[in-house]
Amino acid sequence: MSSEKAFILDQDGTIYSKESPLGLELSARTKQWLCSELSLSATGFSLFKKKFPNFIDGLQSHGLDLRVWHKNVLKPLSRDIRTLIKSENKLLEIFSKIDQSLYLVTFSSKEFTKSLLDALGCSDSFVKIFNLDAPNKYYAYRSVLLESKFSPELIKVFGDNDKYDLSPAKMLGMRTEFIEDGKTFIDYIK
Ligand SMILES: [Mg+2]
Repeated sequence: MSSEKAFILDQDGTIYSKESPLGLELSARTKQWLCSELSLSATGFSLFKKKFPNFIDGLQSHGLDLRVWHKNVLKPLSRDIRTLIKSENKLLEIFSKIDQSLYLVTFSSKEFTKSLLDALGCSDSFVKIFNLDAPNKYYAYRSVLLESKFSPELIKVFGDNDKYDLSPAKMLGMRTEFIEDGKTFIDYIK
């Protein structure tokens, strides 16, 4: 078991895999929405992805807000979530077994997180959940630091996006773990 006192988890691509049915559906619907919003062809979308490997950078550069993505992609997907993800014993077992306090910090909406955690059966696993609609996790991490009173090196942040999930944690002196595509934080728990 690791020596940290708290784990801060990103949600999408971290507690469930990007390559799971839900991860693939989220990415397909985001693509569909962006193509219609920005009038992009398939080639246009490939160029967009190349130019903005970070989806959030792409949104911002086109003046789109995370809340518009919440409304157009996450809200309808919340209703279908149970067909795409099931409660997973391994996840629940790890959540109940680890000693660390768990926090969730995500750019997705409250409604989507609630549906997801209900479907996974782990609604009660987190000390606190932050649903952000501005693309900056620094202040949420800082508030975990202040509320928990743990020193930063006793907190580890898990995320699949180096710029948005891990950089602000590094600035605060927290430990970080990068989650590769297709994996989840479970793969990194020793
Ligand atoms: Mg993520």
